[in-house]
Amino acid sequence: MKTYSMKCVAPTVAAILGLERPSAATEPAIEEIAADLRGSRRVAVLAPDALGIVPWCRWQDEMPFLKSLHARHSLLLESIMPSSTPMNFACMLTGAELAVHGIQTREMQFQCETLFDVIRRKGGQSGGVGHKGYSGDLLLARCADIPGVAEPGLAMTVADKIIELYCVNPPLFLIAQFGNVDTLFHKVGPSHPDVVPMLRELDGALSKVVRFLAARQVAVILLADHGQHDVPPSASKPGYGTHGTDCPDDRLVPCTWTS
Ligand SMILES: [Zn+2]
Repeated sequence: MKTYSMKCVAPTVAAILGLERPSAATEPAIEEIAADLRGSRRVAVLAPDALGIVPWCRWQDEMPFLKSLHARHSLLLESIMPSSTPMNFACMLTGAELAVHGIQTREMQFQCETLFDVIRRKGGQSGGVGHKGYSGDLLLARCADIPGVAEPGLAMTVADKIIELYCVNPPLFLIAQFGNVDTLFHKVGPSHPDVVPMLRELDGALSKVVRFLAARQVAVILLADHGQHDVPPSASKPGYGTHGTDCPDDRLVPCTWTS
C-alpha cells in the first residue's frame, strides 16, 4: 500500500479548502484524498490516538464502521519522529518536522504557521477538540479559535462535543483527538483483548459523528497520530504498550476519508 508522510496532511487539508498550505509545509497534498474532497467547504480531521497498524490489523473486525470506510479508501501515513502525540498533531497542523514547528510538549507555542493561521487569515475559524487534560485540550483546543473540551473516558464524549460545536458555530476546519484509545493501549498493550470493548465504543462514536458531518457536507479524514507496539509481560511486570521509536508499528497508521 502506498505510504505518505504525516507532513502531507496539512497540505491536503489546504488543497481541499482551496487555501495556500502553511508556509513551512514541504510535502505535496495527497492527491488521492484531495481529488475526492476538493471543493468541500469544511474539513474535519478525526484522530483516534495511537490507532496504528498493530491494533488495526488485529482488531478491525471489531470496528465495522471504520472498516467499511477503509473498504472504500485506505492508505498508510508515516508519523514524524519521535512517534509521539504533540509533535505529530503539530505536524498535521503545519506540515513540518519537530525541528521546525517546535511543539515538543503540548503546552508549547508553534514556531511556524499552522492551518489555524491560514484559515484565520481568510476570515474563517477552526475548532480543536479533545478530552480534558490531553493534547486535544492542551494543544488543539488551546490554539484553535473554537475550543471543545470533553470529560475523559469515552470516545462518545468527544463525538458529542464535535456535534455540539457544529450546531453552535460550524468551523471551516476542525481537528479532534480521541485520547482514551492511547491510554488503554499503554495500560494493557494494543493487542490485548481487553481493548476490544473500548474499540467497539470508539467505532460507535465515529459512526455517529462521521454520519453527522457527512450529512452536513463536511469532508472527513480519519487517521492516527502514531501507532503503538506491545511489550510482552516479564517475570516482574505485566505486558503493556508503548511508542515513540522509529519502528513501523510505532510510525505507520491507517488513514481513510469520506467522499
Ligand atoms: Zn498519541
